[in-house]
Formats: sequence, C-alpha cells, structure tokens
Amino acid sequence: MSTRNLATTLREPAELIAHGLARPTDLAVLERVASRYAVAITPDIAALIDSSDPDDPIARQFVPTADELVTHTGERADPIGDDAHSPVAGIVHRYPDRVLFKLVHVCAVYCRFCFRREMVGPGKDNALSDAAYLDAIGYIRAKPEIWEVILTGGDPLMLSTRRLSQIMADLAAIDHVRIIRIHTRVPVADPDRISDEMVGALKVEGATTWIALHANHARELTGRARAAIARMVDAGIPMVSQSVLLSGVNDTPAALEALMRAFVECRIKPYYLHHGDLAPGTAHLRTTLERGRRLMQALRGRVSGLCQPEYVLDIPGGAGKSPVGPNYLQPENSFDGQREEQPETRYRVLDYCGEVHRYPPEP
Ligand code: SF4
Repeated sequence: MSTRNLATTLREPAELIAHGLARPTDLAVLERVASRYAVAITPDIAALIDSSDPDDPIARQFVPTADELVTHTGERADPIGDDAHSPVAGIVHRYPDRVLFKLVHVCAVYCRFCFRREMVGPGKDNALSDAAYLDAIGYIRAKPEIWEVILTGGDPLMLSTRRLSQIMADLAAIDHVRIIRIHTRVPVADPDRISDEMVGALKVEGATTWIALHANHARELTGRARAAIARMVDAGIPMVSQSVLLSGVNDTPAALEALMRAFVECRIKPYYLHHGDLAPGTAHLRTTLERGRRLMQALRGRVSGLCQPEYVLDIPGGAGKSPVGPNYLQPENSFDGQREEQPETRYRVLDYCGEVHRYPPEP
C-alpha cells in the first residue's frame, strides 16, 4: 500500500507494516516500542518517506525501531531536568526572565529522538486540568520578571483555535508578559492546521508572538509546509527554527546546509541546532559533540551568517542551555577568566577554513 494521499495518521505498528514503512517480521518488537513511546506519522510526513530507502532521513525521525528498547548509560526520563525547575504543574522556570508553559501532551507526530518522550503521547496523563491552568497563569502573573512565555509541550498548535485564542489572551493580559513564543512541528507535520483562523488566534493585542518551527531535514519544507509558514509570516509573525542534530538525518555539511538554506528561504531565521538529549533509547540517533562542532565549522564555510544556527547542549540535570562551539578565539597569553581582558592580550583566531590568524596582527 502506498504512503501517498493517506487519509489518516498512522499510529499502530500494523499500519506502518501495511503501508510498507516497517517489516512484517518486526511487528512484535515494534509493538513493544509503541507500548512505551507514542507513534504517529501524519499523511504529510508519510508521503515524504521513501520506503525503498533503508536510510531515509524522514523515516529515521518517525518510524520506530528496536533500537529504542535499549537504554544506554546516562540516558534518563527527564534529560534536561524540567522537573527540577517546575514550581507549579505545567511551568518550568529555569531562567529569571522566561518560563516554559507546557499546555498539552500530544503532538501531530512523535519524533523517535524526543527529549520528552516519557511525557508525551495519548497514553500519558499530563494534560493540564482547568485548575492547574489557572494556577500556572497565576504563577506567571505573580512574577513581574517573566518577560517571555514559551508555549511547548507536546505541541501547542494541537490545541483548538478557540482554546489557543483564550490562552493567548490570558497571557497577553499580564502586563509584564511581552513575548509569547510557540514551539511547534505542526506547519511541517500537518500544514492544513495552519488555517487563517489559527493564524488569527496566534496574534494578540498586548504581546508579540514568535513561532519556533522544529524541522530537521530540508525535505520537510515541502510546498505545503512553505505555504503554511507563509500564512504566518505574511500575517506579521516572526519565525525562528530549531533542529536537532541527528545521526543519519542531518549530520553532514550538505544536509545541514540544505536545511538552513530552506529555513531562510521560508523567512525563518535559523536559531538553535540542539545536540541530541540523553532521552532513553535514542543513542542510535545521537552524534558526538566533536562531530557537531566540526559540522558547525563546515557550515560556516558554506553559508552566510543568516543561515547559521547556534549549536547548543542542554546540560543534563537542568542547568540550562550552553553554546558548545566550535571556538574560534583563544587567548595566546593566558589570563585569569575572572579578570578583565588585559590590553596586551593577544589571540589566535580561526577562520572558516581552519587557518589560524593572530589578533592584533603582527606589526
Ligand atoms: S513534536 Fe516535539 S514534543 Fe512532540 S514528539 Fe516531536 S520533539 Fe517531542
């Protein structure tokens, strides 16, 4: 059976097999995977998968495999330490001026590398009750230092337009909340959801909305996805990207270049390239940090600054995100990092080809 023009989202291993996305002999093992981690492949994503290619980069992101049953050392259910910074249900307050607001626990698609894979999916009991929602809004209202609220989950664009509209209005009514950022995969996974009505719900008096689109391979930016993105950008909503560096998906200079160029063509500024988090059963999709740093250096040699994301690592345990290079500047004469730079400090600067230069230059 073809994966073109599917009418519904595939959720069961037997459906994946029936549509040629998995082997019949893998049914039992895939059912074990699916009983632990949710599976969903929308018609738009299914149509992108080349099932004749065993290394298809779209299939690698969404089709479950037996590798997910192996938990490696260091992998953990809450890899970026959300729980350690959750003062009330639904809120993660890690940095002073912003909070994550986790509204939903469902997504249009379920990514095999998801860092919240233990928390998202239809079987997970993480939906915010009405009372918990009001508590979360109350927490944000009581903290004047919160300038930005980041709606995440799950995927906030799975909410109904009406519900989203109410949430946007509730947040924008709080004077100190000036930015509402929404992280989503919906424009790629289910572009039809980005209706004019939905775009209308995303814009709100009193706060500026930003959309962060999650995509990891240039092929995800189809004509339909680009049209959905254009509906938001044309309405005046600025967009940034977030991607995860994934083995066999985008861990080559050419794949990263194509992805970043595609974002910029869509008027999306590349923002973050995440190093893969230590989520359970995801080791087969992670690269090494050293590989990531080399790829970032290669990218700098291939595309303009407009196409450069920041390569970041979420420090396990909840200490936050750090840029992880590569480093282009090293002091030649070491100085104590606590002290101000000394006027006589000289540096070695790396150019995009890896050549070392001195700054200031030799007289
Ligand atoms: S869309 Fe985001 S939250 Fe949902 S499964 Fe993918 S990475 Fe996880």
